[in-house]
Formats: sequence, structure tokens, C-alpha cells
Amino acid sequence: MNEQAIGATLPTRELQNQGAAPTGGLRPPSPTDAEPIPEEAWAEIRALLQSGDLFRYTAADGDTTPVSRLERDFAAFIGSSFALAVNSCSSALFLALRCLDLPRGAPVLIPAFTFAAVPSAVVHAGLRPLLVECGDDLRMDMADFAAKLAEAVAEGPAAVLVSHMRGHTSDMDTILELAEAAGVPVIEDAAHSLGTLWRGRRIGTLGRIGCFSFQSYKMVNGGEGGMLVTDDPDIIARAIIMSGAYEHNWKKHPAVSAAFPRYQNRLPLYNMRMNNLSAAVIRPQIAHIDRRVGQGRRNHDRIAARLDRHPNVIVPAPLPHEERAPDSFQFLLEGLDENAIGRFVAEAGRRGVKVSIFGRDIDNARAFWNWHFIGEIPDLPRTRAMLMRAADVRLPVHFSPEAVDATAAALEEALAAAL
Ligand SMILES: *Cc1c(COP(=O)(O)O)cnc(C)c1O
Repeated sequence: MNEQAIGATLPTRELQNQGAAPTGGLRPPSPTDAEPIPEEAWAEIRALLQSGDLFRYTAADGDTTPVSRLERDFAAFIGSSFALAVNSCSSALFLALRCLDLPRGAPVLIPAFTFAAVPSAVVHAGLRPLLVECGDDLRMDMADFAAKLAEAVAEGPAAVLVSHMRGHTSDMDTILELAEAAGVPVIEDAAHSLGTLWRGRRIGTLGRIGCFSFQSYKMVNGGEGGMLVTDDPDIIARAIIMSGAYEHNWKKHPAVSAAFPRYQNRLPLYNMRMNNLSAAVIRPQIAHIDRRVGQGRRNHDRIAARLDRHPNVIVPAPLPHEERAPDSFQFLLEGLDENAIGRFVAEAGRRGVKVSIFGRDIDNARAFWNWHFIGEIPDLPRTRAMLMRAADVRLPVHFSPEAVDATAAALEEALAAAL
């Protein structure tokens, strides 16, 4: 019986992953183990702990604080004129929506397959989520998008919030073209898409505003944290003030422009700022993004190619203009009834791989019918059917090829046992 776990980068912790029944092969490592915070970060973290200078606006010279340096480096990396660091992507989405200055209750198109934080941000901003059907490729259905956009525009001002859920990019060419023609602004939720390219451009920079997450399960791990990027000096001024740059703290942002005095004392302060310690943890990871993206793509494509050969598995292909940055693996189960799907999940779990079927888990935050806070929940049969057979497996970018193969073998064995 081989109880050994495998993985190149974190052997000690991966070896500690015990608890599930053994399989014929090697046990996959725990998908919640994180990559260490780079050592380059430690000196600054120590200095911050020593000085206690954790608030971004304490220093007189705003340009040199850890949060300002993170904003500068992130803007340069992503290729945006402006970046604002906040305490989560949810905060960035909320501020982005508030910056658009839409009338209360205005419709915001979002994919019906996304994380509950997305409709939550819409509701929080006093707006109304309008859910767009997603197809078996996990992306927004463009026919339904066009229909819902027309419906929204007929009512008056509206917005589009494209959530690139699990890093799957919807057809940005069509979305941007239709939205532009309708005069509707596009916000990108790129929480799970840091490093993804669309026609060679970085996802999160295609719409008017892009939002990113540094929550621990994303490409950059700050525990919590978010970033809002834009090229629009008016929007960044509004976002900076509303994030909590009270009085004249906006002068500590290099984005200082004529827009700020116009908004002084005219916008509410929501206090969603990032603190210096989070920025010190996050900033040195920017230099690691491209490596992590490469590893994530290698891991994903390795398991996807293998599982896609299975007659009961369909792996959604990326769109032609998309270069993905995955840290998880999604696939559709084909030809398994309810009971067989249940057996598959249980058998995978026994082999150390946690599989979640979005639509079958009780209270899954990615199943739209659980979003009772949005009011009346629409009937979206295509998205529902997809969620009932779409499987989700975490595949951290630091997994070695052997760890990916062990995960693949566990899934294959679980399928064989379930069928
Ligand atoms: C994680 C995630 C969010 C929320 O990010 P937070 O930083 O935790 O608020 C939003 N959308 C998607 C697609 C996500 O994956």
C-alpha cells in the first residue's frame, strides 16, 4: 500500500496530507496548501511589524508607502494607467459599479455562472443583477447576452459586469462590440483571471474598469485584497475617494488630477482601503505571476488532455483568442445519472481529490438558485443543466507534474468505480 504523497515544491507539507483511503497509485497532495510567500517580502514585513506603520495614509510622502508601490507596480504589470488597491475584489467590484453613477435599481448584466460575491456587489451598489445564461462551455451565451442587453437598454442606463468565472473568458469581442454599440460600460471581474490574455491583451484591461482578487485561492495570495484598474482619470478619482481617501489623502496618490477637487466632500467614504502589511505580502508576488501562470497552464493542459480522452468527460475548450491562466480544472460529466455522479464524487474523495459539482452541493455559492438575496430568481435552464454536471477540482499552480498525474489517476479510478 503506497501512502506516499508527491509534489516537487512542498514535499514536507504534501507528505502530511493524510486521511483519505489509499488508492492503487500515489496520493495527490492537498489542494489547499499554498506556495510560500516569497522571501523578498520578509524584510519589509518585518520592518512594518517593527514600526507599526500599517495604515496607508500615515506617511507624509504617499508615493513610497507599500500600498502605493504595489499600485504602481501592478499598474505597470497589467498595463493600465491607474490602479487602486482595496481590501477585496468584492470591494473593487462595488466601487467600480458606484463609479458608473447609475440610477438606483438599474440593471447590471452578469453571467448566471459566477461566484455569489458578484451579484452581491451589484445588490450592495443599489443595482439589479440581470442574469445571462451560460452554456456547456461555462461561458456566457452570446445570444442570451444580446437579448438581455437589449432588454436592459430599453429600460434606460445599464452596465455589464463580465465575470471570467474560474478563469473562463467569455467572448470579449462580441461583448465589447455590443456594449459599445449600446453605450453601456463594461466592468471586468478578473478575480480569477490574473495573467489571462485575450488577443494578447491582459484580461481586466479590456473593459472600462477591471477588478482583481488577492484572496488566498487566486494567483497572488494576500490572504485578502483586491485591485481596481482603469485608464479613466475621472473614474480613478472617484474610486480613490470612495475607497476612503478622506480629506486630502487623495493627494498621496500619483493619479492626482483635476478631477479630485470636483469630487471633494461629494462622495461617500466606504473605507475599503488596503493596509501596508497586505501590500508588502502581495507586491513581491507580481514578479512571480508569469511563472505561476505558465505552471498553471501546464498543469491544467496536462490533466485536461488526459481526462478529455475519457468517454464520460468533456473538457470545455478555450475560445480561440484566449490564453488561460488556470489554477483549477472544470469538466462536464457525460452519461452519468444522479446516483453515478454522487458515487463519482464520493469515490474521488476517498482517493484524496475533492470534486465539487457546482449544482449538486448544498448551498454552493456558485449556483444561482442559492442567491435568494437578489430577489426573484429567474429560470435559466441551460445554466442549471450545465451546473448539475459540471465538476470543479482545485489544481494549485505549484503542483508538480507527478501531483497532477496522481489527481488525474484518482479521477479516472473514481469514474471507473462510479460507472
Ligand atoms: C474570488 C472571486 C471573487 C471575490 O473576490 P474577493 O477578493 O474574495 O472578494 C469574485 N469573482 C470571482 C470570479 C472570484 O473567483
